[in-house]
Amino acid sequence: MNMLKLKPAFKDYLWGGTRLRTEYEKECEYDIIAESWELSNHSAGASIIDNGNLKGVSFTQYLEDSGKKVWGSNAQHFQNFPILIKFIDAKQALSIQVHPDDEYALRVEKEFGKNEMWYVLDAEPGSFLYYGVNKEITKEEYRTRVENNTFLDVLNKVEVKKGDCFFIEAGTIHALGEGIIICEVQQNSNTTYRVYDFGRVGVDGNPRELHIDKAVEVSTLTPVSTEDTKGQAIKLEDNTLENLATSQYFTCDKYEVENEITLCVGDESFQSIIMLEGTGDVTCGNESVTYKKGDSVFFAAGSGEFTVRGKTAFILSRI
Ligand SMILES: [Zn+2]
Repeated sequence: MNMLKLKPAFKDYLWGGTRLRTEYEKECEYDIIAESWELSNHSAGASIIDNGNLKGVSFTQYLEDSGKKVWGSNAQHFQNFPILIKFIDAKQALSIQVHPDDEYALRVEKEFGKNEMWYVLDAEPGSFLYYGVNKEITKEEYRTRVENNTFLDVLNKVEVKKGDCFFIEAGTIHALGEGIIICEVQQNSNTTYRVYDFGRVGVDGNPRELHIDKAVEVSTLTPVSTEDTKGQAIKLEDNTLENLATSQYFTCDKYEVENEITLCVGDESFQSIIMLEGTGDVTCGNESVTYKKGDSVFFAAGSGEFTVRGKTAFILSRI
């Protein structure tokens, strides 16, 4: 089987909302759906295959059984399946956090670092996120401001709207603000250093753990550009293609489709599409699946041509 339609794993973190159920028809027993992991081989929550003769099998099991050739030649140097794609519904703000780069993470955590891309699916008026510092700070100032609760004053606050896109390089201090739904494409890593949690408490009534020492070591202490990293939209007959992110870890493009589009999955990389709008079907070889907004489809490297039918938009990720 070359084409897998996937069902997500869910996370009910306290800051999440219910829009992934009400607007994206995600079926889940939790009251709160903070995150749905739509393409995931992570041990903390793997996606499940929802079509064909592998229906019900976990994506992790599929990858183990198929071997690394389904990743494609560009991804052979990775130890683990390289990316994780999720939806995040931030009803409340997430904690201020930072992720290490590969060098630090492999040395200290024995895991890869984490670069991530956020594509804003919807944002309430006035919503914002934190992205880097707004002036150069020293490590001493960093610690002092965390201790005396003035850390937010030195963070760069960026207003967001639907369609905005941010590449968050490892080392960039960041947090998603309240009222925002995003699609996140990230390196398949869970290493997060929490810097500040607005004084909130967890389910056990205690403040969640902070990781100040490590955060100070890995954070970028000079402002980073918040200019939109999106490329120019390119017209392809009826359809539109927009590059969202290009990095050594993953490449993401957004396609807007009027009626249908045919693309090709070569030997160099697997491809994943995540549907942002509409309904229709996807065919690849003699396989076919239906889709609605929020669905995710994976193609093994070397799958060849696939066709998406219906008026839709999707993000295509590959290595
Ligand atoms: Zn993050």
